[in-house]
Amino acid sequence: MEFQQAMNAVDTCPDIVDVLIVGAGFGGLFMLHNLREHGFTAKIVEASDGIGGTWYWNRYPGARCDVESMQYSYSFSDELQQEWHWSERFAAQPEILRYLNYVADKFELRKDIMLSTRVISTIFDETLLHWEIKTNRHERLLSKFCVMATGCLSVPKIPDIKGLDNFKGNIYSTSNWPHENVDFTNRRVAVIGTGPSGVQCIPIITKQAAHVYVYQRTPNYCIPLNNDPLDPQEEQWWKTNYAQLRRDMMRTSGALLLHDTRNCPALSVTSKEREKIYESAWKKGGNAFRLPFNDLYINKEANETVSNFIKSKIHATVNDPTIARLLLPYNHLFGIRRLCRGTDYYETFNRDNITLIDLRYRGIDEIQTTRVRVGNKIYEVDDIVLALGFDAFTGALLNMDIRGRLGKTLQEKWKNGWRTYLGLMIADFPNLFTITGPGSPSDLANMVPHIEQHVKWITKCLEYLRTHHINMIEPTLEAENTWFEHVNDVVENTLFRTSKSIYNGANISGKPRVFIPYVGGFDIYMEKCENVAINDYEGFHLMK
Ligand code: FAD
Repeated sequence: MEFQQAMNAVDTCPDIVDVLIVGAGFGGLFMLHNLREHGFTAKIVEASDGIGGTWYWNRYPGARCDVESMQYSYSFSDELQQEWHWSERFAAQPEILRYLNYVADKFELRKDIMLSTRVISTIFDETLLHWEIKTNRHERLLSKFCVMATGCLSVPKIPDIKGLDNFKGNIYSTSNWPHENVDFTNRRVAVIGTGPSGVQCIPIITKQAAHVYVYQRTPNYCIPLNNDPLDPQEEQWWKTNYAQLRRDMMRTSGALLLHDTRNCPALSVTSKEREKIYESAWKKGGNAFRLPFNDLYINKEANETVSNFIKSKIHATVNDPTIARLLLPYNHLFGIRRLCRGTDYYETFNRDNITLIDLRYRGIDEIQTTRVRVGNKIYEVDDIVLALGFDAFTGALLNMDIRGRLGKTLQEKWKNGWRTYLGLMIADFPNLFTITGPGSPSDLANMVPHIEQHVKWITKCLEYLRTHHINMIEPTLEAENTWFEHVNDVVENTLFRTSKSIYNGANISGKPRVFIPYVGGFDIYMEKCENVAINDYEGFHLMK
């Protein structure tokens, strides 16, 4: 409907900008700034009423980053990284949103951002060599290049629960949380989903509500975040050494400096030593568990040592052995689904105002006006919180009608799964870039430095085209296919091949089961991107 309205729109033709950016999160904001700095004209179109992307939408209680803020922040301006002060090691959503608004003001980005405007279609005109963008507000915009900064976790999974529409209480979604305060005092709340967002909000809602019913299909591994106020000495250390530390981050497999990593296999040390290392990582929390050994994601036996350690912690933390058993991950190894990091998550199940409902054998049968039914069990609730996760990596791109060469749609092209070159460009869709697109490390890496790497690569590429008077760039089909095969080959050598998660589309019914992010390591990936650029954009057609 909206699409048809946009197609029928008869608007006066606006000036053509060099680059139209879709999305005003970390990616879109830096893209706009960097393009301007390099003499390009650019505009952002953003569906929401404010900037911030992920941090605009996900305002649920407990929402915070799980990469330390000193690392989950922009590096492009030393002035910015010196003057901004993070109050906690892992900043909460309001602070990250304040930071992004501060960035927008400092670099005067707002004048080139169109808010409350959703891009409906993006169509390439092969004769005039421009993209024509139509929006839900009937605007028609033209640009030579298009950058999709639409986010890898920006399209919430649509709930498929019978009777949800009949519910008479409030229904909240973690990924589209109200702006006004939500008070759960004296309320009976159903939280559906125990992924990263569920794990963050459940302890906080349980502290406030009369009773919380947690509906869990897949128990996940949850590492304690061990968040604290940011130590002023640590902050100063980062600020003094930022130049070197940011460079070091980019040379790691996750664009992230970890506290405790060892370049040796888990099974090369005694079980006693391993326990000590895991114990110390558990105390440090956060990302200490990401890579304590170098073979956790390639060797099942090695992975089981850490998986079993976490399971023992669940048993030790949760008083009721039956509940503890239900919280044990049973169908996946550690780290091959999106990792959860929480505060008092397992401890919360020792409270007497929480009930865990296990859905592994039987899902929710039905939601009625005031209750949730699972088999013959009925739970009376006042509010429902949906924490269902995302149609990740490809969702936002496929939500638009993107048409490339010869009117080919992205939906057609990706009907059997994504295809990109480096997660940056798509064959048959010239002059269109994707920030942290499918086939890049994306959410497997620390996203802010990854986004910066993509933005800089794209800007450099546009400069190259300008200098060499090239009008059109597009990957060759061969380069795209080779990249796709490489991404898949790398997965086959890791335990990620066993993943049934957002990483291979298994959480969305009907989505092709193809592994999406690049698991070969951010450092290796970045080097590949750099080599492609150095070799005059090897794997791309460049047309004058
Ligand atoms: P987003 O922030 O998702 O922004 C994309 C924007 O595009 C959105 O505002 C959306 O409205 C807009 N958009 C999409 N389609 C359209 C359209 N058709 N028209 C107009 N606008 C459109 N990553 C980490 O590395 N560390 C973390 O600790 C971390 N924590 C996270 C916690 C949560 C709760 C979530 C959901 C994600 C987290 N992530 C984390 C991933 C996070 O998404 C990225 O770190 C980062 O914020 C992505 O920025 P982005 O600009 O690429 O995309």
